[in-house]
Amino acid sequence: MSEQARNRIERLVRELNEHSYNYYVKGAPTVSDEEFDRLMGELADLESGHPDLVPSDSPNRRVGSDLSGSFPTVRHDVPMLSLDNTYSEADLIEFDTRLRRDLPGEDLVYLAELKIDGVALSLTYENGLLVRGVTRGDGLQGEEITPNVRTIRSIPLRLREPVDRCEVRGEVYLTRETFNAINKEREQRENTAAGSLKLQDPRLVADRNLSFFAHGLLTPQPQHDRHSESLERLEQLGFAVNSERRHCSSTDEIVTYWRAWDRGRESLSYEIDGIVVKLDALAQQARLGATAKSPRWAFAFKFSSERVRTRLLKIALQVGRTGVVTPVAELEPVLLAGSTVSRATLHNAEELERKDIREGDTVVLEKGGDVIPKVVAVVESERPAEALPFDFTKTCPVCGSNLARDESEVAIRCVNSGCAAQLKGRNRDGYRGPRTRAGGPAR
Ligand SMILES: [Zn+2]
Repeated sequence: MSEQARNRIERLVRELNEHSYNYYVKGAPTVSDEEFDRLMGELADLESGHPDLVPSDSPNRRVGSDLSGSFPTVRHDVPMLSLDNTYSEADLIEFDTRLRRDLPGEDLVYLAELKIDGVALSLTYENGLLVRGVTRGDGLQGEEITPNVRTIRSIPLRLREPVDRCEVRGEVYLTRETFNAINKEREQRENTAAGSLKLQDPRLVADRNLSFFAHGLLTPQPQHDRHSESLERLEQLGFAVNSERRHCSSTDEIVTYWRAWDRGRESLSYEIDGIVVKLDALAQQARLGATAKSPRWAFAFKFSSERVRTRLLKIALQVGRTGVVTPVAELEPVLLAGSTVSRATLHNAEELERKDIREGDTVVLEKGGDVIPKVVAVVESERPAEALPFDFTKTCPVCGSNLARDESEVAIRCVNSGCAAQLKGRNRDGYRGPRTRAGGPAR
């Protein structure tokens, strides 16, 4: 009887883990939700009748509740160093020059990968089973949060091939969808991947729907020569590995890749804050080694501007001293580059129409070297059905006169030379007459 139960449990665990893998790692479900729930139910019933037979890779172990108090501190076998990072092309060229000097006459091939905005995690597997999940901490020792890590469904509890012992490193992150969902319910400060991962109750962590990309494999005897091959190996073992990566053999190629993703990052379902550039050959990595803080063969090339999403509540019109009307976004207050932002410039009518920014939209804000935050894009998938294109055929918000489009079609202005907004500007600034060129953004 017990033998029969054991066989059925093992079979169900294998089958359910395969379905989970197809769903959470491959993104291609092979079974209906209904069928999955039915199998989970059958397994839960069997396991509650035979608690001694519950295997450590049972999917029911993903929602344990055996964690309490603080997390134990664990020393990393191999330190989790941080990467040198920069925002500038000059630093990138210097990095490349240093490597060519230290490895004279050798071919250098880099692998550029996306830098996921999440929190670093180390996973240890023994005999193919997940035994430990540890945060980066200070790089030398981190916190062991295994029960929480088990709740992350894209992390395999059992590798797809038996491996005696290995350590996998990667990044835990929140998809934008999950982030937005949590944001609606809870305070913002704990809505990061880091905050979620360290919640005291694993059941709450399971609710957070965290995701994981693996990006590093440490094994006692690696069977491969290149970092890119270790990523392929991670895929074989059952991990989700980001499919966006590119081999580059010059700094020009790296810069091109970096620029393309700085522009294209809004198309991703998760946040990235730059690219990571690594020397692909493991032998070259080993020869270069590391400083006390960071490896000499890798580099984070970050995007220079911070971006954040928020709701655009209203488009207000501001009238400047030349009569030019500047649309201004009034926003749901949001933290961006260290300060709370509730207004952003929309520059001019032409730009607002080109980007088709509407009241009620979710917009992407950016603050670069510039102090003034600007709206760089609209998230069209989150546009409310009732949001209409902004209508400029309005009257001056200050004097009520008609607004007219100037010759360049870029700006809209109030044509009333007696408009209070214009008179006020003239008096204050010692204004002596209209400028010859229609202005750009009012600053
Ligand atoms: Zn006016």
